[in-house]
Amino acid sequence: MARYIFVAGGVMSGIGKGVAIASIGKILQSKGFEVTALKIDPYINVDAGTMNPIEHGETFVTQDGVECDQDIGNYERFLDRNLTTDNYLTTGRVYQAVINKERNLEYKGKCVEVVPDIPNEVISRIKKAAKKTEADFILVEIGGTVGEYQNMLFLEAARMLRLSHPKDVFFILVSYLPVPEMIGEMKTKPTQYAVRSLNMTGIQPDMILARAPVPLDEPRKRKISVFCNLEKEYIISAPDVKSIYEIPLNFEKDNLGQRILNKLGLRAKKTTDLKDWEKLVDVIKTADKPVKIGIVGKYFESGKFILTDSYISVIEAVKHAAWFSKYKPEISWLSADDYIDDISKLKELKKYDGIIVPGGFGTRGVEGKIKAIEFCRKEKIPFLGLCFGMQLAVIEFARNVCGLQKANSTEVSPDCQEPVIDVIPEQKDLLSQKKYGGTMRLGEYPCKLASGTISSKAYKDSLISERHRHRYEFNNDFRDALTSKGLVLAGINPEKDLVEIIELKDHPFFVATQFHPEFKSRPTRPHPLFREFVKACLK
Ligand code: GLN
Repeated sequence: MARYIFVAGGVMSGIGKGVAIASIGKILQSKGFEVTALKIDPYINVDAGTMNPIEHGETFVTQDGVECDQDIGNYERFLDRNLTTDNYLTTGRVYQAVINKERNLEYKGKCVEVVPDIPNEVISRIKKAAKKTEADFILVEIGGTVGEYQNMLFLEAARMLRLSHPKDVFFILVSYLPVPEMIGEMKTKPTQYAVRSLNMTGIQPDMILARAPVPLDEPRKRKISVFCNLEKEYIISAPDVKSIYEIPLNFEKDNLGQRILNKLGLRAKKTTDLKDWEKLVDVIKTADKPVKIGIVGKYFESGKFILTDSYISVIEAVKHAAWFSKYKPEISWLSADDYIDDISKLKELKKYDGIIVPGGFGTRGVEGKIKAIEFCRKEKIPFLGLCFGMQLAVIEFARNVCGLQKANSTEVSPDCQEPVIDVIPEQKDLLSQKKYGGTMRLGEYPCKLASGTISSKAYKDSLISERHRHRYEFNNDFRDALTSKGLVLAGINPEKDLVEIIELKDHPFFVATQFHPEFKSRPTRPHPLFREFVKACLK
C-alpha cells in the first residue's frame, strides 16, 4: 500500500520545490523505503519538448523517451532511479487522455466534467505510477504556486485522494520567507497568505518547509505555527545552501523523515543510512583545487540575467565528475557568438582546462561554436561535444581537415551541398507534416563501442545504452571521406548503423556524442565520459 506525499509551493516559484522533494525522497530511501516521484506541470503543453529552454529550462529526457521538466532530472539524480512516462503529467496530457477516453465511450454515456473527471484521471495516474514502481512512497510535486488558477485541479486531486485515503496522504507546503533588505527582518505574512489560499482548496498542510535566505528562528516558527495552524515541529527550516546535495543532510538534522513517518504511523525499515551522501557532501565542501570548464552555448541570456537552467544536467554531470576526482568544479558560460570573428576571444579559451559544446537547435551560435571546436582541436584542449556539439564537431572536421568547404547540417543550411549532418529519414515526413511534438529520436538506444577507443576504455564495456533527443544525424555518405582523414567512429547504433560517437586520435581528449550522456550521470556515480573528460582536463 503506497503513501502519497503531495508537495505544493507557496509565495513564489523557483524556490527549489523539486530539489526539496528529491531530498525528502532520498531521506525516506535511506530509511529503507522504496520511493518514486511524480511531477505535475500546470501548462497545456503535452510535454516539455516544445518549450523554449530560456523560458522553461532544460528539457530532460527519460529512458523511455519522454521530454519532461528538468525536475525529473533532479529526482533521478537524488533517488538514483530511472523514471518513466508515468512520472510526469501536464494539464495537456491529462485533458488529452480524458478526451480520448470520452471519444472511446469509456465514460459509458455519462456527461464528462472538469470536476471530478479531471482530478480522477490525475489520481488514477498517480496510483498507476505508485503501483508500477512498487513504491512505498510516491512524492507528487504540484507545479506552480498555490493561489494561482492553473493548478487548482491538481490540488483538487490531492484533496479527493486524501478524502478516500485519509491515513495515507501527507501534504507539504514549500513556502518562501523573504528578508527584505530595507527591513532586515524575516517576514512570515506571505506564507500565512499561501496557507490561507491552500485552506480555501480544502487542504491543510501537514508540514511547511520554510525556504529562506537564512534559518528560521524561534519567534518566526511560533508565528507560523499559530497563524498557519500547525505544530512547531512540522515547520522545517530550509535556508539557502551552497550545494543542493547538502539538503537531505540538513533536513535530517531536523528529523524530517521521522516526523513524516510519525504522522503516517509508520516505522523506519532500517536506521538511516546516508553515508555515501555524507562522503559526497564532504568532498563538495572541502575540494579546493579548481577544474575550469567552459561551456560554449547560447541559451543563457535572458534580458540582463544569465540563466543556466537550460543546461542543468550538463552542469550537474560536470560537478559529479569533478567531485569524483576531488576537484572543485568551476564552470564558465561562454557565449558562442563571441567567437565568430574575434581571434583574441578564441585565445581566451586557453584559460580553461576543458571545453564543452552542449546540445542545441537552430542556426544562431553555430559558426561561433564551430570556431571554438576548431580551436580546441588544434590547441589540444580537452573537448566534449554533446548532441549538437557532436554534429558541429563533424562539420568542423569536414571543413577544416577534409577540405569540404561547404560542409554543414541541413538543419542549419537546408540546401547545403555537403550535408555531413542530415535529417534522419523518418524525420523528413514528420517535419513536412509539422508534427513536431514528441517526434524526435527520443530515449535510450543501444550503441556498440569500437575497441581501443577513449569511449570503450571509459565505459569498460562494448555495448552501452544512452538517451537521445535529435532529428539530425551523421550522414553515412561521408563516412569514408571523414574516416580516411582520421575521424574515429567510436560508437555505432547496431540496428540502424548510425554514428553515435566520434573521437580524434593525437589529441588528449576529443570525444563527441550524438546522445546526451549528461542525463545518466548521478552524484555518487559520475558518467564515464564526463569522468574521463575531467581526468583529461586535470592533466
Ligand atoms: N538540433 C540537433 C538535432 O535536432 C541537435 C539536437 C540536440 O542537441 N539535442 O539533431
